[in-house]
Amino acid sequence: MTQNEKALIGSSTVVPFRVLSVANKQDSLILRTKCKDVDMAADAPYLSLLIERLKLTMDAESGVGIAAPQVGISRNVFLITRIDKPEHPVEAIINPKIVLVPENTICFERDGCLSIPDVSGNSVRYPWVEVEYFNSKGEKIKETLSGYSRKGDFTAVIFQHEFDHLNGVLFTDKLCDKPVNE
Ligand SMILES: [Zn+2]
Repeated sequence: MTQNEKALIGSSTVVPFRVLSVANKQDSLILRTKCKDVDMAADAPYLSLLIERLKLTMDAESGVGIAAPQVGISRNVFLITRIDKPEHPVEAIINPKIVLVPENTICFERDGCLSIPDVSGNSVRYPWVEVEYFNSKGEKIKETLSGYSRKGDFTAVIFQHEFDHLNGVLFTDKLCDKPVNE
């Protein structure tokens, strides 16, 4: 990580970050920046503090996911709520890749984003994604995430939404008219 990134992460141990907004011009540029991988070894202390503060920020904003670039850190890190698991734990996803997707897409109902306040819209998503990433313990995980229903599990959509942030992509870039029939 850069000195600027370390200064932002290390500026406080226990308070939420400020969430960047598309309404702010400078924030918008950061939200559109493609992120870089973290160095799991060299960045370890800052990475765990980043994850801790992202969790606080997500809770404060009542989100189901948050990506590092949304707080000004252009690194490949995000949190997702695992609606597919008992108790819905929040998990850190580090240096992720989407390795396989199906041919078909669906239109997910009422996507929303902490960086685009008061806006919701339907977004084009894959019904499942096969992914690889490192968890907060540094273990390499490979799994298939599914779930794209607002009425039940939409873990696959949360992952895709946060993954897009790492590439500077927002849900408003992939709007669709007609939600899937669930
Ligand atoms: Zn978002």
